[in-house]
Amino acid sequence: MARRSRACWKDTLSKAMKQCAQCGQFCEDGASFCTNCGTPLSRWPSPSAVSTKKEFLQLPENSRLKKELNSDAIVCYICAALTVVLGVFVLKSPYFLIDVIIVLGMGLGIHLKQSKVCAVILCIYAVINAVLGLINNGKISGYLLLIAGIYSVISTFKLDKQWKQYQHDHSL
Ligand SMILES: [Zn+2]
Repeated sequence: MARRSRACWKDTLSKAMKQCAQCGQFCEDGASFCTNCGTPLSRWPSPSAVSTKKEFLQLPENSRLKKELNSDAIVCYICAALTVVLGVFVLKSPYFLIDVIIVLGMGLGIHLKQSKVCAVILCIYAVINAVLGLINNGKISGYLLLIAGIYSVISTFKLDKQWKQYQHDHSL
């Protein structure tokens, strides 16, 4: 009985307070520095529950970034679908499939892996696509893809930067 109440007490203690990553001291939730050793306490409330970038993205404070990444991917999927329609009904040559595979693949990489590499490739591809449109038709084409590419780069780099900061703050 005594053991159980002690476990409960410890549980409530760790929930209401922040633990110092440096020395393990429990400090008040609002505190910015450890009362024992003076180490700056993390600005993120949930310690140790996160060990991967994917879990980090699931934190409530990252919900906006998560939404951004999802919207970037959705725009990729829309672009891929539009390319299919254009390829089948207008261009009528099988080369459009290459475009579809690139856009869809990079979109999936951004959606599922939050991949910076995929975002950069998508952005470069969108720029090449726009330049080719300018050369061939005299006007820039693929605005949607350009927007998706640029925003994907911004979102994935932002996530990476915040994840690195989080890892640093929690000495992961
Ligand atoms: Zn400390």
